[in-house]
Amino acid sequence: MIGKEITIALSGNPNSGKTTIFNNLTGLRQHVGNYPGVTVEKKTGVIKYKGYRINVVDLPGIYSLTAYSLEEIVARNFIIDQKPDVVVDIVDSSNLERNLYLAVQLMELGAPLVLAFNMTDVAKKSGKKIDISFLSELFGIPIIETVGSRGLGSDELLEAVIKVVSSRKRKEKKVEVKYGEEVENEIGKIISVLKEEKVPVLKFDARWIAVKLLEQDRDVIDTIKKESGPEYSKIEDAVTGSINHITSILRDTPEIIIADGRYGFINGALMEAYKEVDPGKLDVSEKIDRVLTNRILGIPIFVLIIWLMFQFVFTLGKYPMGLIELGFEKLSVLITEIVPQGLISSLLVDGIIGGVGGVITFTPNIILLFFAIALLEDSGYMARAAFVMDRIMHKIGLHGKSFIPLIIGFGCTVPAYMGSRILENRRDRLVTMHINTFMSCGARLPVYILFAGAFFPAIAGNVIFSIYLIGVLMAVIMARVLRATRFRGESEPFVMELPSYRIPTLKGILIHTWERTWMYIKKAGTIILAISILMWMLFTFPMIGNNYSTDYKGQVNEVEQSYQSGEITERELDESIAVIEAKMAGERLANSAAGRIGRFLEPVFRPLGFDWKMVVATISGIAAKEVVVSTIGTLYSIQEANGQSNSLKTALYKNYHPLVGYNFMLFTLLYFPCMAGMVMFRKEAGTKEMLFQIGYTFLLAWAISFLVFQIGRLFI
Ligand code: GDP
Ligand code: MG
Repeated sequence: MIGKEITIALSGNPNSGKTTIFNNLTGLRQHVGNYPGVTVEKKTGVIKYKGYRINVVDLPGIYSLTAYSLEEIVARNFIIDQKPDVVVDIVDSSNLERNLYLAVQLMELGAPLVLAFNMTDVAKKSGKKIDISFLSELFGIPIIETVGSRGLGSDELLEAVIKVVSSRKRKEKKVEVKYGEEVENEIGKIISVLKEEKVPVLKFDARWIAVKLLEQDRDVIDTIKKESGPEYSKIEDAVTGSINHITSILRDTPEIIIADGRYGFINGALMEAYKEVDPGKLDVSEKIDRVLTNRILGIPIFVLIIWLMFQFVFTLGKYPMGLIELGFEKLSVLITEIVPQGLISSLLVDGIIGGVGGVITFTPNIILLFFAIALLEDSGYMARAAFVMDRIMHKIGLHGKSFIPLIIGFGCTVPAYMGSRILENRRDRLVTMHINTFMSCGARLPVYILFAGAFFPAIAGNVIFSIYLIGVLMAVIMARVLRATRFRGESEPFVMELPSYRIPTLKGILIHTWERTWMYIKKAGTIILAISILMWMLFTFPMIGNNYSTDYKGQVNEVEQSYQSGEITERELDESIAVIEAKMAGERLANSAAGRIGRFLEPVFRPLGFDWKMVVATISGIAAKEVVVSTIGTLYSIQEANGQSNSLKTALYKNYHPLVGYNFMLFTLLYFPCMAGMVMFRKEAGTKEMLFQIGYTFLLAWAISFLVFQIGRLFI
């Protein structure tokens, strides 16, 4: 029997029945003394059970592990320093929310844990019925129901303890409470400072220390101060910076925010685990949640809120967007006037303003969308939305939390990829990222506006809506496919934090809005600028010189002569010259590198109904989707290359069948978002996944467009 000695520690809130259970377990074989060095009563007992010698230690009754009281420090240090094989947390299950607060902290500490749901006789009368086995699965921790006063559940408790001990080697799922983006970012910063300074605190986990430092836990601060020596000031600076940052944005100290986070975790878990609830026993926030996360009402409410959000974004966004467009037009005119016509002027106007301007023009919509999302997130509603969507998302093999990055994807895919970080499971995260591209981003909208306006002017809105819908449908299908193939495997249940509702602070919302908008703008200033210049070069060189197929100069001379001899009016002269110039421009383009590439690749796209110009536009869309519009504009040599341009719409209408127009929108929707997006994808998921994303979305776009064109042409 040697080596089968186990130490278990009993923890729990005062009055949870700890002493009762201790007595049940140990009978009379117990010993009372003091913890070494402190005058806190220490009771220990030894029992023999199934060949195990089990030492039971009764820890002081506490509500929390925050190191405010001697009892808390004693309990915590015992768990950290003595490393009991199992901590049995006695929970008063008639007062779960409050009692689980300690349990969650024990989980965060990473202690091997068994929960004893005591007082179940009282709880049964309370009107809230809990699915214990589900809750146990959510926490990844065994839960045993006990009635201490009647000695029920003691054997089951010991069985669970032995099971935990014998399965110790298996890596247990560690519960991690997420404290929201703001706090999580600061935790990340503190962890990296701790790692940089190589603080030798191996017995703790870095995340736990970072959280404790944010909570200003005196005991942990002292330990870190001792361990890190002169380097402590750097850590202190980082922590102070983080505390100030969090306090100024969320208007509460990290300590409070973190406590809220734990309660959010508990509420989320309980909300999922409640089987039936007596409505009379709910508090205000719970009552609001009963409506917002209601099985029947939850989804319509959510759809309404999202609809209002898009309404707000597009109605309000129109005005500044128009102004910015006008600004760029004026700027183009100004440059044409100051800079002599030639390569430089063309580079500035067609290359840089055409490319970068297209991205900037869309910024107001992006800002408004991110503002609305930040409002929903900071008020606590987004967590409820994720909760409501959870059941639906599970049907496609995803989790409710995936839902938030997917919504962000309607704005811009770049921050959406970053937002996927809230999913702790890698498989969930990757599937969410791989389907995010189908959430049609803001940059694709100008393309739809142009094409739907050109081919389906009477029903443009519905046509655009259909594209968005196909995107969502595609996301659903691909999520299932990816789940069944590359990312197979059960998605383990995890708790979705339900933070308490709070009135968002303006500062917090502005900062969140700005952080995401900045990512969008940054791509305009960096990647899109570079790509625009590159595209311009591809479109400009090699120059045709005077090697036109037709004598255009002669044609111009001819019409000028007819004008001088009075055969045609001045207007007719201008029109004729414009036609000739457009032909010249077309020939220049066909001769350019882009034109050659387009022609070279045309056979690949012909089965989709695309001609070389569409191929070139598609290629330019790799840089950023909104560039497609300006490229098409350039290809048809029409100056005012924006979605409003009627002449461009006419040109498109004359050149393509509406089926091809629709197909082009589909293709634009489906192939991977853009260069900036791929850079972020690589950063978040690695090169291999990025290449997979590019490859599979491109093949998918081709396949779908192929089917639509081939089937569609049978009917036209
Ligand atoms: P401690 O402060 O955690 O050590 O709690 P105690 O063991 O002293 O128990 C507090 C009170 O709760 C005592 O009166 C116990 O008899 C009672 N008690 C303990 N377990 C149960 C239970 O499962 N059901 C009910 N109804 N009472 C219990
Ligand atoms: Mg007691």
